[in-house]
Amino acid sequence: MATDLLKNIRTRIEKAGEIGKFPDWYITELLGFKRRWSTDFILDITDPKTGKKKAEAFKMVRVWHRLPNNRWLYGGGFRFHEDVTLSQMESHAIEMSFKGWIHGLKQGGSKGGIAFDPSKRTDEDLIAICNKAIEEAVEANVIGPWMDRWAPDVGTNELVMQRFQSRFAYEKRKPGTPEPLATITGKPLDDGGMPGRTEATGLGLHYAYEPFRKELKGKLPKNPTIILEGFGNVGSEYARLSMDLDKRKTIVGVTDKFNGIKGGVYCEKGLDIEKLLKYAKSNRTVQGFESEQKTASKAVLEEMLFDKGADGFVPAALEETVTEEVAKKAKIKFMEEGANGPTLPEADPILEERGITVIPDIYANAGGVIVSFFEWAQDTGGKPFDTDLIIPPSNSPAVVEIVYQQLQGAFTRNGANIINLQKQTKDGNKNISYRMASYIYAMDRVFSRFAAKRNKKI
Ligand code: NAD
Repeated sequence: MATDLLKNIRTRIEKAGEIGKFPDWYITELLGFKRRWSTDFILDITDPKTGKKKAEAFKMVRVWHRLPNNRWLYGGGFRFHEDVTLSQMESHAIEMSFKGWIHGLKQGGSKGGIAFDPSKRTDEDLIAICNKAIEEAVEANVIGPWMDRWAPDVGTNELVMQRFQSRFAYEKRKPGTPEPLATITGKPLDDGGMPGRTEATGLGLHYAYEPFRKELKGKLPKNPTIILEGFGNVGSEYARLSMDLDKRKTIVGVTDKFNGIKGGVYCEKGLDIEKLLKYAKSNRTVQGFESEQKTASKAVLEEMLFDKGADGFVPAALEETVTEEVAKKAKIKFMEEGANGPTLPEADPILEERGITVIPDIYANAGGVIVSFFEWAQDTGGKPFDTDLIIPPSNSPAVVEIVYQQLQGAFTRNGANIINLQKQTKDGNKNISYRMASYIYAMDRVFSRFAAKRNKKI
């Protein structure tokens, strides 16, 4: 069910503005965009239906939200998915800003993508699409290490990032200048990547849970059972890391959408994640895994959530999967948003009324944004505005441990701040949600910088 994602996020900003008592000029600033860019590029490419070459137009978009300071830069994911639209990317660019501000990163949010399904294309055609995307962005002068950097998102991975990087370096080559590595993040390690980037978002979800668990002792268990929606980068890394002793969670259900068909597997005692990861890698789906683990059975999400239930639900697929129906019927104690914008605004009050704790996307799934910032900073010497956040030194053999420590520190500090803000802030005589507290916290962290930029007294 597609709703207006942009309208939804704007409504949340307006509400946060009202509760946080921010001035109108600030809200007007945050509701708009610095720039939107889009093009239809054409390639002679294999038609997935006929297998023959033909000219095809690809819609490519990129949106830049706002910078609190003209010296900062933009950063955000780049996705390959058939539903990419300008308006959808606008809402995600705003989310990217808020995630960065919550965690103290000197950046504004950007987001973009190309509207096509990468699973239906040959490797050769994917390379041609990646090359053309970079050529178009360079020609329009909308990409660069001090302008806008791209990160992996839905349908893109480190190999796509490597291809983007390599084409960008080729386009920008000049004798005597080093490759502009800092423009693309999420690259493979031997191409200037940052250790920990691949697992950063999934790992961050585990760290993000902890301050809430400590606050809501008795309600959120230390080792909860989890139903997981989506088994791509975010979902599979979250599941893989849930086997570690200090983060242990029992993943009882996993779903994905393979070839357009939604399905999944369930096991009350817990799925064998090691086996499931191997199975999903070779079959590109979790569907059919019940043949490998005899205690598991085939199940769709609704059946898992509405009939069987679990302590927690982690949506890590696409936007707008948490509908009113899910909010009304899910038998869960908490939901942690791995995906961007998974919850419809109508679902929010229902979850609240039912006492289901929502750990929101703009705080919880920012692990990847933070490590992408580290990757950029490693190549440029850039710094975050949160001085407690240290850029892991790339020449240290323990770099991955430092990345993990910094991620954990960021979630511990900012999670605690959001929880405190939620406790102290009321909407009339009602408590506000953690989502609303996260919006207000992000807006508050950069307010004085926006005010200085606009010559406003505060
Ligand atoms: P991905 O393309 O690697 O994986 C997406 C997965 O979701 C696939 O397995 C697909 O089969 C599944 N899926 C799609 N629709 C589904 C549905 N209706 N039900 C069940 N499964 C479904 O993408 P990703 O990088 O893992 O991103 C997932 C979400 O997390 C997106 O919302 C993305 O914007 C967000 N996110 C990603 C990152 C990152 O670092 N990759 C960072 C922050 C947020």
